[in-house]
Amino acid sequence: MRSTMQDAPLLIRDIVRHGQWMYADKRVFTATSAGMTSTSFADVAQRAERLAAALTRLGVQRDDRVATLMWNNQTHMETYLAVPSMGAILHTLNVRLFADQLAFIINHAADKVIVVDPSLVPLLARIKEHIAGVEHIIVNGPLDDAPFAVIDYEEFIGAEEPGFDWPDLDETSAAVMCYTSGTTGDPKGVVYSHRSTWLHSMASTSANSIGFNDHDRCLLVVPMFHVNAWGAVYTAFMAGTELIMPQMFLQGELLLNMIMELRPTVAVGVPTIWNDLLRAAGGRSDTDLTSLRTILAGGAAVPRFLIEAFRERHGVDVLQGWGMTETSPLVAVSTPPTGVSREHEIDYRVKAGRVMAGVDIRITNDQGEVLARDGVAVGEFELRGPWITAGYYGTDAPDFFRDGWLRTGDIGTLDPHGFMVITDRAKDLIKSGGEWISSVELETTVMGHEGVFEAAVIAVPDDRWQERPLCVVVRTPTSEVSAQELRDYLSDYVAKWWLPEHWSFVEGLPKTSVGKFDKRALRRLVADGHLEIQTL
Ligand code: AMP
Repeated sequence: MRSTMQDAPLLIRDIVRHGQWMYADKRVFTATSAGMTSTSFADVAQRAERLAAALTRLGVQRDDRVATLMWNNQTHMETYLAVPSMGAILHTLNVRLFADQLAFIINHAADKVIVVDPSLVPLLARIKEHIAGVEHIIVNGPLDDAPFAVIDYEEFIGAEEPGFDWPDLDETSAAVMCYTSGTTGDPKGVVYSHRSTWLHSMASTSANSIGFNDHDRCLLVVPMFHVNAWGAVYTAFMAGTELIMPQMFLQGELLLNMIMELRPTVAVGVPTIWNDLLRAAGGRSDTDLTSLRTILAGGAAVPRFLIEAFRERHGVDVLQGWGMTETSPLVAVSTPPTGVSREHEIDYRVKAGRVMAGVDIRITNDQGEVLARDGVAVGEFELRGPWITAGYYGTDAPDFFRDGWLRTGDIGTLDPHGFMVITDRAKDLIKSGGEWISSVELETTVMGHEGVFEAAVIAVPDDRWQERPLCVVVRTPTSEVSAQELRDYLSDYVAKWWLPEHWSFVEGLPKTSVGKFDKRALRRLVADGHLEIQTL
């Protein structure tokens, strides 16, 4: 029997329409060098309508790719709303990629139009002659000296009227695409549909996950080129959550100013950003973070000390989220379950998260056998569901899938209540004497030492044990902590045979284009002899 329900498609245009009238007065703030600007949801949506009309005039048709090379700002948000709603595909380009990777991605996705921030025009100029398929470049602001023909964004949309007639679309049609950060091989494209975006946004409004709602104002630090800003832009329009867009002003001190000035309730970004905010917050006597009901930290393991420090020093709860480009990204959020005391909550917040309804999850061993959800068996996480990718755009990658499940490459345990604990990326695990050492656990633990600002652990070859951990440490400014002291500190937390004997102290750690520790770059530094290593 068929149900009697209507089968209206889930389209992004209807998220836009909803936010436009229901939350017309909500605001989007954008940081500029001259201070904050702000615009209402109603105006942002009208500007998106004008943008759609202007792109149509330019010849953009269904399924054409419109790329963005932009920081987090209001105009970027307008492209998020307009491009998928008109039936074209938004392709968010990572502004921190090397020029040749950027050219590869633009050509692979067959981008037709690029909308670019003025400060990123020089980056585009470097690859312009290698991206012949791009027909138009639209610049978000005045340029003194354009290195190639450009269209001015304000003039472009200013020539159109609001009130674009958004088309009817198939809900499974492509809406947005994003490339993985490509730590191995070429970056791979993931294509999100209108339907997947809708369902993912609804899941993000659940109180069991982040619970975005119309009381919230969100400081959106995660870049809009990193998995659709973790879905927050669409969720904001759906839930009436105001957004603060920090552009390129991402240092701890600047974020602290934004928080104290605009008093967001939620902040979203990777742990390295929050570690830097914590440092900045400690350096000021008037720090006030009490507007924040939660900081969502994800994209990398969140150290226990960070969660404790935000709560104890600033009264802010940190939630951890787990996800990847292939998963839209949110799969799990570490909301503590009912019945857990405030004191024990932290034991849940340090886990990668509890899996949200809609995502099917399992762990498997090397033979592909499904393991128990007992919090003990260790295996690779595999996922399927309506916002989990089933393939890559234009790339055959059978090794990343098994019987319709996405193989994540992340290793860990799953407990009977659905909490994921990540031991490591499979390729970052350290194999010592036939047993595995978790680089994640070592580095998140050592970062709890008061003399350590950041730390990353990688494997180095060892004649006797095959591999041993090397811990690379950035000390806090006044710290003189030694390798032996850190090893002694660690010995309270991890097995003796895990304790690293190789240590290196550096001024800064290499970071990936989305702000995580770049272990591939660290391995290269070691292989090229650029790190001074002490062996205890
Ligand atoms: P990306 O596609 O660049 O966002 O990278 C996804 C990867 O980030 C995942 O496969 C994990 O290895 C890592 N990751 C994301 N969230 C977490 C987390 N909460 N804890 C540990 N690793 C994480």
